Amino acid sequence: EASVGDILAGSARRYPDRVALRDGDDTLTYAELHEQALRFARGLREHGITEGDAVALHQPNSLWFPVTYYGILLAGAVVAPLNPTLPPAALRAQLDEAGARAAVTHPATAPALLAAGTDGLQLVTVVPPSAVAPGDPAHQDGTVPLAELLAGDPEPGPHVPPDAVAHLSFTGGTTGRSKAVQVLHRHVVANCLQFTCWRAAAVPAVDPDGGIFLDPVAEAATEYTNQPGQGVSIAVAPFFHAMGLVGQSIGVLAGLTSVLAGRFDPERFLELAEKFGATQIAGSPALFHALLAAPAAQGRTLPAVRVVNSGAAPIDTTTLRALRTLFPRACVVEGYGLTEATMGVTSGIVDPDDPVPIGSVGLPVFDTEVEIRDLVQTGSCVPDGETGELWARGPQITAGYHGHPELTAEQFVDGWLRTGDLARCDERGHVYIVGRAKDMLIYKGYNVYPGQLEEILSGHPAVAQVSVIGVPAAEAGEIPAAYVVARPDASPAPGPALAQELMAHVSARVAPYQRVREVRFLEALPTSAAGKVLKAELRRAHKA
Ligand code: ATP
Repeated sequence: EASVGDILAGSARRYPDRVALRDGDDTLTYAELHEQALRFARGLREHGITEGDAVALHQPNSLWFPVTYYGILLAGAVVAPLNPTLPPAALRAQLDEAGARAAVTHPATAPALLAAGTDGLQLVTVVPPSAVAPGDPAHQDGTVPLAELLAGDPEPGPHVPPDAVAHLSFTGGTTGRSKAVQVLHRHVVANCLQFTCWRAAAVPAVDPDGGIFLDPVAEAATEYTNQPGQGVSIAVAPFFHAMGLVGQSIGVLAGLTSVLAGRFDPERFLELAEKFGATQIAGSPALFHALLAAPAAQGRTLPAVRVVNSGAAPIDTTTLRALRTLFPRACVVEGYGLTEATMGVTSGIVDPDDPVPIGSVGLPVFDTEVEIRDLVQTGSCVPDGETGELWARGPQITAGYHGHPELTAEQFVDGWLRTGDLARCDERGHVYIVGRAKDMLIYKGYNVYPGQLEEILSGHPAVAQVSVIGVPAAEAGEIPAAYVVARPDASPAPGPALAQELMAHVSARVAPYQRVREVRFLEALPTSAAGKVLKAELRRAHKA
């Protein structure tokens, strides 16, 4: 029966004086976060925003993101989290698709919002409260100062039923146009509980010191911060995307302190982690690559960190081993999920020395079923070990795409979500993501999975990052081409000799039809804000 606002209300009751959020010198305790959110909810309602109205959150990560996020939900309205870096035309399209009635923006993002046009928005406000006051030169006609929205006394909002829409969350747009997914309150609550149960059950089992303790995150925090039971995370994943957005409520449920790290800067990230005794961090493999490559990470260890959460894209063995050096007492937890499943579907511990092969994203979380179905005869499951499309069913599977009933009917079938991801399961039910169905290429009639080739190439000492795409070829249909970011000390240096060596490295490990037939070097791979490689951009660049 709970709604997302109840997660915050519960933590405000249990841990009123605990710091919930820290951004530089600014902090909010759980009681303050709840109070500010209730004030904001009241302000929205007093300005005519009611149940079911969509409010766009168009701001970078700051303390004000969670305040306004929970405020919107406590008012019974719907959060439409938008990527703050979208150019005006794409922003306009998403505002229209969500049917936004109001928007919360920031001095850094307000120009794009104004360029996109505020038609349909009956209320625009700018965070932080000091950013735009009446009389301020930055004050725009029609903008309501945030201070005005926070001025009323906090009061309980309306009852929000679990079947009410909580988010209109846009998919990452990795494979094409972003779609708005309708996420209900009960989906968010279920996914938060699923991951909380998972951590409570699974993480203690892998204490690297061999001891048994109930909650490694809490234990490490006691050791390093002298505040019993208080975990500390460095929040760097963007709040607008499923992982950061739902991850934020999972942290609130656990009474965690989130230290906001702003735009990702490895040096600052490591400094904050050390200063505040971070017990857990979360990010995408792209973020970990950048962290591990930073001069500030060399020779450093952060023993307080006990859990490293990785998600959004596959993590490779080399990165896993390097993470162990930087975080010697942490276990790496890999999650697999997608916006259409609120956030997460499976979770597992990945250990480069474990007999379970790397690449597994663990088991389905509580009350979740996963089936691997034939790509052609979509009703039938393939045998263990064979690759097919991953279908998932559970209480976190969302209501479908907002405003796209045909697309919803294609992807959401009898309570099951077709994920569009290729995967296989072993006999114990461990799930292995093979790649996206759209990325699979066909070489002379054989299926070739880029993810497998990427894992092999990332094991070569000259390779820092790699992405493999299928490119059209006259006789074969498609051939695999690798885009490689070489390590600075790569020998030979990037050029024809290294390309030959990398192709030979793959050929020695795969069947002939899987060979990489072209290698190109880049300074960096194009990635989305959520840290996924944008293969569509590589394909476009390859054609040009
Ligand atoms: P769009 O659907 O608009 O193309 P998107 O797929 O990037 O965008 P998201 O919901 O942000 O939308 O991302 C979900 C996808 O990310 C999954 O379908 C899967 O392909 C990939 N993914 C997530 N976690 C993992 C993981 N641990 N390993 C491999 N791939 C992952």
